[in-house]
Amino acid sequence: MQNELTPMMKQYMDLKEHYSDSVLLFRVGDFYEAFGEDAKYISKALGLVLTHRGNQPMAGIPHHALNVYLKKLVEQGNKVAICDQLEDPKYAKGLVKRDVTRVVTPGTLIEDDALSEENNYIAAVYEKSVALVDISTGDFVVESSLDAINRYSPKHVIYTSEDPTPNFSDTFKEKVEDWYFDRQNSESFLKEHFKVNDISFLELSLNEIVACAAILKYLQNTQKRVLSNLKMPLKFRENARMFLDSDTLSNLDVLSKGTSSLYRHMNRCVTRMGQRLLKREMIAPLRRREEIEYRHSLVKKLVQSEELLISLRKVLSQIHDVERIMARVAYPAATPSDIVALRESLRAFEKLNLWIDSTGIFKELRLTDLRDLREFLEDAIKEEPTGEVGKGGVIAQGFSAELDEARALVSDVDEYLAGYQESIRDKLKTKAKVGYSTVFGFYVEISKSYKGEIPPEYKRKQTLVNSERYVTPELLEIEKKMLHANEMIENLEKELFERVCNEILRKKEEIFSNSQKISFIDMIGSFARIALDENYTLPIFSDHVELVESRHPTVEKHVKEFVPNDLKMNEQRRFVVLTGPNMSGKSTFIRQVALISMMAQMGSFVPAKKAVLKIFDRIFTRIGARDDIASNRSTFLVEMSEVATILHFATRDSLIILDEVGRGTSTFDGLSIAWSVSEYISQKLKAFTIFATHYNELSELEKIYSGIFNLTIKVVESEDSVIFLHKVINGSADKSYGIEVARIAGIPEEVIKRAYQVADALASTSQIKKSVRFLTNGEVEKIKQRLKKVGKGQLTFFSDTLKK
Ligand code: ADP
Ligand code: MG
Repeated sequence: MQNELTPMMKQYMDLKEHYSDSVLLFRVGDFYEAFGEDAKYISKALGLVLTHRGNQPMAGIPHHALNVYLKKLVEQGNKVAICDQLEDPKYAKGLVKRDVTRVVTPGTLIEDDALSEENNYIAAVYEKSVALVDISTGDFVVESSLDAINRYSPKHVIYTSEDPTPNFSDTFKEKVEDWYFDRQNSESFLKEHFKVNDISFLELSLNEIVACAAILKYLQNTQKRVLSNLKMPLKFRENARMFLDSDTLSNLDVLSKGTSSLYRHMNRCVTRMGQRLLKREMIAPLRRREEIEYRHSLVKKLVQSEELLISLRKVLSQIHDVERIMARVAYPAATPSDIVALRESLRAFEKLNLWIDSTGIFKELRLTDLRDLREFLEDAIKEEPTGEVGKGGVIAQGFSAELDEARALVSDVDEYLAGYQESIRDKLKTKAKVGYSTVFGFYVEISKSYKGEIPPEYKRKQTLVNSERYVTPELLEIEKKMLHANEMIENLEKELFERVCNEILRKKEEIFSNSQKISFIDMIGSFARIALDENYTLPIFSDHVELVESRHPTVEKHVKEFVPNDLKMNEQRRFVVLTGPNMSGKSTFIRQVALISMMAQMGSFVPAKKAVLKIFDRIFTRIGARDDIASNRSTFLVEMSEVATILHFATRDSLIILDEVGRGTSTFDGLSIAWSVSEYISQKLKAFTIFATHYNELSELEKIYSGIFNLTIKVVESEDSVIFLHKVINGSADKSYGIEVARIAGIPEEVIKRAYQVADALASTSQIKKSVRFLTNGEVEKIKQRLKKVGKGQLTFFSDTLKK
């Protein structure tokens, strides 16, 4: 054994060579073993005992605990290759056949205990196209924007050598061979996978096709099978969906895990499928008016009858994560509890149809009838199955006569043995005992104090302190029968379970379409729930915006008394300059307008007393550098490149939210840029825009240009302090109250007093005023003159000329 490899170790080594980038788990008996460096690694990573086989380090995972350890290994960023025994060792001639049956990565988990309710994507990046697949649900999306990586947060990204390593943090990245991304064969690969002759209806570009094919090839290669549960790739369609880039999603705190995230706040779904749909819809709200209003009409019906909503949600809550269950059935990797959960869900499907029939709501979404399958599963699987498949506790009584017979034999054996023990006691006149040991099988135990005769056919097998154990011909006979029966049970039950799974798969399409309907109904139910709980209103669409007593959906939950605000915007009032001191509520207000628009276009009601909205094609938000505390991108350059994106892509139908843009540079440059950007947007792009700024000078724009108007936040000054009323009113601010904010923050009174003295002193020195505080009226006048010279509507950074 020293240097000579055993045949099994040679088998291991050959496989390991193929899977050198993965941790290889090699099935031996009841364990998945790791050897060599892998063994050292997993023993440390998983806290397992490190042993040795010959001079090889070795560490093993009990096969029934594989999922738990698998999850940990994958979470730590490993690829794990799982090698199984391909034949029953009992019947193997010589070395047991083994091969890798699947390679698991963070993006290819399917076990329920390894996943959260959220989508678990693996992505392929090709040029600017991104294809994302969740094999645990079958979801498949494709987009031609690298930003998709930020929005869908895949757990694993593959790319080719032709692409520079994409710079996505926190994601498991893997460079794969070029053939995955083959421009020639990708289309035919896709057609073959989905068994269609034509894929033009998917409207994919060649790059998108290449990315889709790459992900499918990779999955086939690692999963060692064709994943038959994948849906067709769904493309992001610009004319149907509102595009929200990842900056906007993070600026508006849509998806974060924090308590103020919109998703956390709005998610009142009762099924996991509904939750996932809600999140996908949140990333890309609708743009088609009929589609949005259809959703609103459904929400309205439920809002009007809370009782119906409650009964609906009660039915929905009995539905399990059918998409995930189906992925495991198709894989195949389903457990008896998966089938039980599916059966329960099918029962709830029927209840949902009853609900639909009796209320008339969601009539067009009535589920496909699957009663036959439900009845079949009731006949096939025990109401409460026990143990793993093959032990006899899963398939229902009466489903297979053969299986029932084998099980009867096993369960009768106790009775038989009791009778047999009785008969020996009668015959020998002693308290003989029948028992079972794994070494000798069934035996008769007779005390050493027994002085009578031992029948000659009894074979002594073991001597204990006070007794002797014998094997008898009758016991050998029953043991043989038992072994046979158990084997029968194992084979039969596995076979029958497989049949049950295949029967389920025959209804795959129907189950998928039902679960899609259920996700949608659940999402609508969630919108209705939140509308009632939070007192939201039905939004109406028009060519202008009119918000009455609107609120910020999450901030209102975290402050004592939220002050609702109004807003009117139209063609003549399309660009708002919102001034007001720090902490007065500017940022909150402008985000609230964006969030309300998003929510409305998703199909939800909104936090306001009245909401008339325009349908926007995109929402852009940009936050000035110094406000951007969440990330470390706080350079002025980044801020400007983000503003550049807006100026390039915003249309007349976009909503633009600017928060303190221009702040990342000196006051003078910043104001100049803010000024010219405002001019460009309001005069050229004509997008609805709200610009919150501490540059009070920007309120001058109102006087110069059409379409621009000023709002400010009301502040009440008492003798020695300032009260922020958080009330948005017409007009502009004239002071910034920075020192007051410092007081609220707890700066000692002495320091505050001194600050006022210094501020006064500075204000009287115009030279300093120019660089650290506001511009004088004269300076603003100068800017205006310059702007006129430069020509309206041109984005020009003119601060340098101004300084001369
Ligand atoms: P600004 O952007 O003007 O500095 P913020 O929007 O960041 O101000 O608001 C500062 C704080 O004021 C928020 O954290 C919130 O607690 C409170 N606030 C904002 N708007 C309102 C409102 N309408 N009603 C009540 N409190 C508000
Ligand atoms: Mg702010």
